[in-house]
Amino acid sequence: APDLSKGISVESFEPSQETHLARSFEIENKLAQAIEKNQFEMLYQPIVRLKDGQMSGFEALIRWPWKENEYISPMEFIPVAENSGLIKSLTRWIIRKTCTDFARIHDKLPESVYMSVNISSADLLDPRFTDDVLDVLRKNNLPAQNLKLEVTEHSVISDLKTAIEQMKILQQSGIRFAIDDFGTGHASLRYLQLLPAAYLKIDRSFIGGVTELERDAAITRATIALAHSLNKNVIAEGVEKWEQAEFLRAHQAEYAQGWFYAKPMPIEELANYRPPQFPEESD
Ligand code: C2E
Ligand code: MG
Ligand code: MG
Ligand code: MG
Repeated sequence: APDLSKGISVESFEPSQETHLARSFEIENKLAQAIEKNQFEMLYQPIVRLKDGQMSGFEALIRWPWKENEYISPMEFIPVAENSGLIKSLTRWIIRKTCTDFARIHDKLPESVYMSVNISSADLLDPRFTDDVLDVLRKNNLPAQNLKLEVTEHSVISDLKTAIEQMKILQQSGIRFAIDDFGTGHASLRYLQLLPAAYLKIDRSFIGGVTELERDAAITRATIALAHSLNKNVIAEGVEKWEQAEFLRAHQAEYAQGWFYAKPMPIEELANYRPPQFPEESD
């Protein structure tokens, strides 16, 4: 019998997979053109420090209007870019675009506010990546301390040694790393210990139920404790409600991000963004 876990074999080829393949081809073709023609947009979502309610940084998120009046989700096209090798030139575009955007408003923000950019493991295995990033920072007069890179836990594994080497070089120049979507990939605790990442982002699938489901609350508390015992700070993703932010703050998570604070916005709006404040504590 065909082993379905290994993907598409001749025996297991079904119409649904054919449709899926056709869609992937369409995305791949359009991607190559879109990279050439600069057809992407970047939005930015605030990340808030729970201790004082201030914006500590913001995450860059890509948007692609791939057809007239139709955006396609990065959750769909980023994996296609990764599998086709187009991700390297896409990430190169993203780094340039986000850094020029950031440079435009850098003076209007507190000095410590950082930008967090999502990258793929393939980028860390690209020998030109490190120099490219440092070069773009220099050209835009941005301190490396103001850039953070987010790597998803399941994407780093293919060549762990090389990826870690590149991360360390970038880290020595001041760039910090965050492990994204923690809890959803295949990372072992060993892996978590090895990666030179100062931040851990708890996936939003756990945050959604944090005030209602004991199992989500338990995993979130345990992840915060684990991160702290490995000297990492925690960023909670997908905070949509005041009570979730309150739970996270009470359990010593450092940062939060989500629709409760703000949806992703154009760069110009970030300079005027003020997070909603918790009521003053009184005792
Ligand atoms: P991610 O890095 O985990 O980004 C967080 C996702 O959660 C974003 O989805 C964001 O819009 C969404 N989000 C934020 N707050 C909330 C909330 O309160 N509730 C809900 N339901 N969702 C919220 P988005 O922009 O669709 O991106 C999806 C994924 O695509 C990202 O997950 C990331 O893995 C990837 N991605 C996005 N932009 C880029 C990029 O520039 N480069 C790369 N390599 N990947 C990207
Ligand atoms: Mg991210
Ligand atoms: Mg994430
Ligand atoms: Mg996520």
